[in-house]
Amino acid sequence: MPVRVRIAPSPTGDPHVGTAYVALFNRTWARRNGGQFLLRIEDTDRARSNPESERMIFESLKWLGLTYDEGPDVGGPTGPYRQSERVSIYPKHAKDLVEKGAAYYCTCTADRLEAVRKAQSAAKLAPRYDGHCRNLPPAEVKKQIDAGAPWVIRLKVANEGECRFKDVVRGEVVFAWDQIDDQILLKSDGWPTYHLANVVDDHLMGITHVIRAEEWISSTPKHIKLYEVFGWEPPVWCHVPLLRNKDKSKISKRKNPTSLNWYRDQGYLPEALVNFLGLMGFSMPAGLEVYSPAEMEKEFTIEKINAGGPVFDMQKLDWMNGQYMRKLSAEELAKRLGPFGAAGKDPALVKRIVPLIQDRLRVLSDFGELTSFFFAETVEHDPAVLVGKKSTAAETASLLAAAVEVLKSCEWTAAAMEGKLREVATSKNIKPGDLFMPIRIAVTGKAATPPLTETMEVIGKEKCLARLEAARKRLSPG
Ligand code: GLU
Repeated sequence: MPVRVRIAPSPTGDPHVGTAYVALFNRTWARRNGGQFLLRIEDTDRARSNPESERMIFESLKWLGLTYDEGPDVGGPTGPYRQSERVSIYPKHAKDLVEKGAAYYCTCTADRLEAVRKAQSAAKLAPRYDGHCRNLPPAEVKKQIDAGAPWVIRLKVANEGECRFKDVVRGEVVFAWDQIDDQILLKSDGWPTYHLANVVDDHLMGITHVIRAEEWISSTPKHIKLYEVFGWEPPVWCHVPLLRNKDKSKISKRKNPTSLNWYRDQGYLPEALVNFLGLMGFSMPAGLEVYSPAEMEKEFTIEKINAGGPVFDMQKLDWMNGQYMRKLSAEELAKRLGPFGAAGKDPALVKRIVPLIQDRLRVLSDFGELTSFFFAETVEHDPAVLVGKKSTAAETASLLAAAVEVLKSCEWTAAAMEGKLREVATSKNIKPGDLFMPIRIAVTGKAATPPLTETMEVIGKEKCLARLEAARKRLSPG
């Protein structure tokens, strides 16, 4: 049987980093087996689902290169892939189960359910449906429905025994059936709940492996029950550990950015983020950390997904981003920097700047901060920082004057400037660094920059001399 896997996000809010994480394992598994990876949009929660969220899911998966073989925007043989377009499919399945005696109509009112919940809570019992309609003679319930009472369909869940199933990551998982509620399958408006729609669709779409976040594991007994009563073959279950905040709690936006938009807007490279997500759940042989999706495909199996809850470590992500940033050609990096301020700037200048900052970029959005002085007419600096702790204003002014003097007639190359400035330092009997720092601050406004003379070469003679002169004058007018 060909491997068919899917992700089934609900389009609410921003696209979540956990969706990309689970998508990566599903897609890699499909590709390794020559199978298909599907995207299904689970939008049956009409109050929370919205088209903008759905659009962002498509867009962010494409940004990450986590493309799918079938989905709402690409089509496929088992569509539609949006549950809101499949609503006509679900009721007949729920009614079939009623006929088989595996599900039942329930006409309990919200008030009654609330009273049951309160009584259970007072008795310190877990809240669950008390089986009222399950135990009524069906003719009685039918009479209520015929008289116009709103109804739902509930799944009959056993009250005793255990549900045992094998999970690829966790081994044998056991739930007591009496902990599992008589789940509503079809709501009073005729729309399905997550459980019904998810199982029906996984079956109709030929899903062979359900690889999803571990938070769904407690739903799995209900799903197993549904497969059983429908008489369908269940998929292989594989619950992937959740990404965690540093304190080990489930990743949350209060403690960690969770929106894929945020990572894109910061300027993380998609290939770095994907590699980082792979690292969170899977270990390559020999501890290899930087690898491509194609390399991962060769080694990955779902049995090898790590069972421990991986901590989403931003420092590690920054490191990974750096690895990928350094690997890009200067030309490619310049292109990626386009949306981060490089577009619209003189392309020839950008081309000269990029090699200077390539090692210093943490994320693409550092571009503006790291390079503003190349593009500005003048720069600002704090005279106190310019002078430094070990020097005086007069001494610093005289160093800058000496620098201007030699640079005026210097060939404008980094090597020539470096030589001349070192001679100045020697003649003044100071360390080169004590000369370079005030020059750096005068020319760039910053204490940390790419190598000084290379930077000056790119800024250009006229601007550099003007900035040095302006700084000198501020310290010692005249
Ligand atoms: N709609 C669920 C979600 O939002 C799908 C869970 C599953 O993969 O079964 O993640």
